[in-house]
Amino acid sequence: LSLLSLGIGPDDEVITAPNSFVTTAWIIARTGARIVFCDVGNDMNIKPDLIESVISERTKAILPVHLTGRVADMDSIQTIADKHNLFVLEDAAQAVGACYKGKKAGSFGVCAGFSLHPLKNLHVHGDGGVITTNDPDLYVSIKKYRNHGLKNRDECEFWGINSRMDAVHAGIGNIKLKYIDKWNNRYREIAQMYTKSLNGYVNVPILKEYEEPVFHRFMILHPDREGLQGFLANNDIETKVNYPIPLHLQPAAKDLGYKKGDYPVTEEQADTILSLPLYPELRDDQVYYVIEKITQFCKN
Ligand SMILES: *Cc1c(COP(=O)(O)O)cnc(C)c1O
Repeated sequence: LSLLSLGIGPDDEVITAPNSFVTTAWIIARTGARIVFCDVGNDMNIKPDLIESVISERTKAILPVHLTGRVADMDSIQTIADKHNLFVLEDAAQAVGACYKGKKAGSFGVCAGFSLHPLKNLHVHGDGGVITTNDPDLYVSIKKYRNHGLKNRDECEFWGINSRMDAVHAGIGNIKLKYIDKWNNRYREIAQMYTKSLNGYVNVPILKEYEEPVFHRFMILHPDREGLQGFLANNDIETKVNYPIPLHLQPAAKDLGYKKGDYPVTEEQADTILSLPLYPELRDDQVYYVIEKITQFCKN
């Protein structure tokens, strides 16, 4: 809705990270624009130093993803965007409540998208999403777009789609919104326990001083990821890989002509990342059990 409302379409290019969930790619493809990937850094977010090398005269926007609930380096990204007259749109699906230099995810660039899917920190027991923007024109046009392109009850200004959130889900979201800070703090607390105890055994996220992530996921890196995951599974600890197949190597992306080796940092991370159990209801003793099993594996 955001990309379409900004007028992005065929002949345009949008730059994003190749290590995200598939949505980030298909929303660009859906507009007819070309998806242009840019590799990530150690923080698993788009690496600003690399962005200018993929900007062309067709580039219209940069779409950083705040992966795992860590906000991308928005100041550097905005500086590049301003220099080249590009829109910045945040994929803040994993980052509700996350801060960067004291500013909340969703307050950067022209607009941001949040997901209320059941796996996200703030969810509505079903599907839903939120767009934030400070641009009044964009606000009005997205509201029309998600409601059939209707300007009012009877007048259709352009052919839109139906992407309204229904009242029941919205009501649940409004109630949960009151608790999200508390839940996010528990995500942070667990992440801190993992960080403190696992640092030195596996690669843990190293934060910059201005970051205040929400840890939608806590990802570690380990060269024997499969071995570690199997060992944990044998000890009744479920882990997941988010995500094993980078976007540029997805079958859906084959027409774009990317190949293995194009985004080495993304690909190396995809082979070694592992998401540990993390949700507000997880008890301290359960967290310590996970830590114990991981350190046991590493010591052996
Ligand atoms: C979950 C997620 C989405 C998609 O959210 P939906 O609510 O399923 O549309 C997009 N981007 C990222 C990074 C996500 O994690």
